[in-house]
Amino acid sequence: MALRDVIGQDRSVGILLQTLGRGRVPSAYLFSGESGIGKKFAAVNFAKAINCLKPVDSQQSSVIGRRNGAESIDGVQSVDYRLIDSCDECPSCRKIESGAHPDFLMITPEKGEIRVSEIRAVEEALSFKPYEGRKKVVVIDDADSMNQSAANAFLKTLEEPPVDSLLILVAAHADRLPETIRSRCSRVNFTPLSPDACEKVIQSVAGQPAGPDKKRSDGADEVQVMVRLSMGRPGLAVSADIVGERERFISLLESMIGVCGETWTDKEEMERWLDLILIMLRDMTVLKVAGKDFQNKASRAKAGSGMTLFNSDIRDYVLQVSKASEIDGMVEAYRKLVLLRARLDFNLNKGVTWNYVSGMMRNLRFRVPAGRAG
Ligand SMILES: [Zn+2]
Repeated sequence: MALRDVIGQDRSVGILLQTLGRGRVPSAYLFSGESGIGKKFAAVNFAKAINCLKPVDSQQSSVIGRRNGAESIDGVQSVDYRLIDSCDECPSCRKIESGAHPDFLMITPEKGEIRVSEIRAVEEALSFKPYEGRKKVVVIDDADSMNQSAANAFLKTLEEPPVDSLLILVAAHADRLPETIRSRCSRVNFTPLSPDACEKVIQSVAGQPAGPDKKRSDGADEVQVMVRLSMGRPGLAVSADIVGERERFISLLESMIGVCGETWTDKEEMERWLDLILIMLRDMTVLKVAGKDFQNKASRAKAGSGMTLFNSDIRDYVLQVSKASEIDGMVEAYRKLVLLRARLDFNLNKGVTWNYVSGMMRNLRFRVPAGRAG
């Protein structure tokens, strides 16, 4: 794989290819954007392109060239520099891909946190000149999980970056990083993918072409269900059992409106659950508004309705849960949950949030459909 293989992130990849082509790579990047949209994948492939022994002209050059001309990032209308990408074949590319390159280091959180010891490892790695590559590249995945002392230690590295080094911070919640760190990095924003791009990623990673042979027992197409549930973040669909996860999240919803004492295991689950409940509420509202059209497949096809349900494969369940709810209440709950979701960057307390959301769900008079309870 190479930068040209990053699907659905033309703009961010374009920026990276340009930088490589000009040979003006900053000492630190911050790749920000939601989980599962290709940030880490792009970071690894950027490292490959930097150290590749036989760099190639990117196959996307014509597309990127036009884009640059049109957007005129720095006032230059015609862009004629080369767009460099990795060959994905040389020993350097292969070593970085497998994590065995002496000039490449990937830092990931342990037990949900990046500590000072990990940052010390970064300092040590950067204290030597590159052994065989052009630059030492360190990727810090989930950089926003650095604790306070790790962040302080890391700031020193950022302030005086060794020559021939590149730091790439990857963060789904970039705003959790101290401003002092953010301001020293060139930021590249990644965005959720279109459904088509999402499907491409899921198919290429999972090796699952959509088709009649991939139907689930309820008749739904497995890839399509994954595309809808991932909401533009295919990495979530391919790294976890996203359909199974929905089952677990639905049981958490039932726990909220029922008597069972289950709760979110951690903040990450809380966030993912909030995403799910938002698309559930959205589906419930659509079902209420569209009424019988959505209950009758034939009439829906006839009407050519453009509206689709994210949870179309469990439509009957969604409908039954919200049977006793009023549409105004659901819209209001949706609004409040969107605000809550936006506040996650400010470290919400899990217990308090659970009580708040539970109260909201009970007020909506959600019901566990018969046959599922227990
Ligand atoms: Zn190469």
